[in-house]
Amino acid sequence: MHLSNRSQQLQPSATMKISAQAKQMVADGIDVINLSIGEPDFETPDNIKQAAIAAINDGHASFYTPAAGLPQLRAAIADRTAADYQLTGLTGKNVAVTTGAKMALYSVFQTILDPGDEVLLPEPYWVSYAEQIKLAGGVPVTIPVGDSFKVTPADLEAKLTDKTRAFLLNSPENPTGVIYDQAELQTLKDWTDAHDLMVVTDDIYGQLTYNGASFTSIAQLTDALDPNIIIISGASKTYSMTGWRMGYVVADAALVAKVSAFLSHATGNPTAVSQYALLEALTGDQTQVEVMRQAFEERLNTIYPLVTALPGFKLDTKPQGAFYLFPDVAGALELTGIATTGELVNQLLNEAHVSLVDGNAFGVDHHIRISYATDLASLKKAVSRIADFLAAHT
Ligand code: PLP
Repeated sequence: MHLSNRSQQLQPSATMKISAQAKQMVADGIDVINLSIGEPDFETPDNIKQAAIAAINDGHASFYTPAAGLPQLRAAIADRTAADYQLTGLTGKNVAVTTGAKMALYSVFQTILDPGDEVLLPEPYWVSYAEQIKLAGGVPVTIPVGDSFKVTPADLEAKLTDKTRAFLLNSPENPTGVIYDQAELQTLKDWTDAHDLMVVTDDIYGQLTYNGASFTSIAQLTDALDPNIIIISGASKTYSMTGWRMGYVVADAALVAKVSAFLSHATGNPTAVSQYALLEALTGDQTQVEVMRQAFEERLNTIYPLVTALPGFKLDTKPQGAFYLFPDVAGALELTGIATTGELVNQLLNEAHVSLVDGNAFGVDHHIRISYATDLASLKKAVSRIADFLAAHT
């Protein structure tokens, strides 16, 4: 047997690994509360399911579609993006539909990076960015951002080299929940413009904002889409459609043509039935989107004060979007004498039966990620289990 160097260096997604472990413990009859996965707990809204069933029954879902997706879906994504982002000139040619936003990102890195090209990646960062950049032969250049969790042009400038090709921005951000405002985005764009860099903006949490916070994308700062900006988004979070695997790229048509060529060899096409489901999600009744958003907001407002009251848990700025808290737990390590964040997460899983993610999976030590995409009762129970655990170990 031979394994490539590339595959030997590859680690499984830490969030998927720990969540699978928690799910297995539940299957084994252990009452674990799983706060480790970035997955809404809601069923996909009924109108979306019905559209998929109709597509199957009407015989539309049995065949290959074009590699970048059904023309009517590409057009619908272009229209929706044009309306939401107030961008002129978008058509279906600017859109490639992909197997989740993960594949959108993967195909983009394959399309824009040559070996050795560097991508600026604010840290903490979502687990898969760095691995996907490496799989494309690129180099993730991580940028520690400190307590504000926000990167500035000065931070970026410090890591600029003649190999820098792109900057990856995720707002609202996983795992911190921070949102960049328009003025911050403008300073970042001025900087990337000055160095003629590509910007990959992962806007997948753009509709999940809370307590009056609003979302602006860096792609919105021009009237027409800037050819250096690539928008990534998808249905998993907004429409509770993680299992359907629907994401998309919106970008310059020439770049999208290359993404489409890549996809034609990689996936053939995104699953046909899911494309009909996404078409309904984007163009049909949006009532459930707001119902789910409000539920996340209530969960955030409930769990944030509980988590920040835990001894040794520090999170001064309340998140404004996505569905995660990323507290600093250095104080909890000190209190309990537990040596590492990984060990704390381990003990919380095995003793307190609460599944969380070690911040090191996002490049940052002494933090843990708590997903609040779970019902209120479970969230409260989880925090009280953590409190009991800390009391017992202090
Ligand atoms: N981008 C971010 C920031 C995410 O958190 C996730 C999922 O956790 C994704 C992309 C990928 O989403 P999907 O592939 O389900 O569309």
